[in-house]
Amino acid sequence: MVDLNSLKGNELSAAMRGGTEGWGRQASSADNVRYSVKITGRGRRSICSCGCKNKATDIGMANGLGLTSGCEFSVALWVRTGKIKTMENLRRLWK
Ligand SMILES: [Zn+2]
Repeated sequence: MVDLNSLKGNELSAAMRGGTEGWGRQASSADNVRYSVKITGRGRRSICSCGCKNKATDIGMANGLGLTSGCEFSVALWVRTGKIKTMENLRRLWK
């Protein structure tokens, strides 16, 4: 069981909305509440894969597990749609 007191921000609100069954053990971007957290700490920061050429600053999470990472923008889109940013998605969703 996850201790809700150890969660905060987006993570806590996702846990409250989606429940914590399997939290930290299994996650599905389709079935669990998606949320983002900021990458903290130094090092190991990859380049965002969306094509923006920025560093990845956010992690796309569901059920306590990181499923994707990227720039704030692409992860926000993933949280909203469950899809990694593509130019088609962009045109459709961010007009
Ligand atoms: Zn990006």
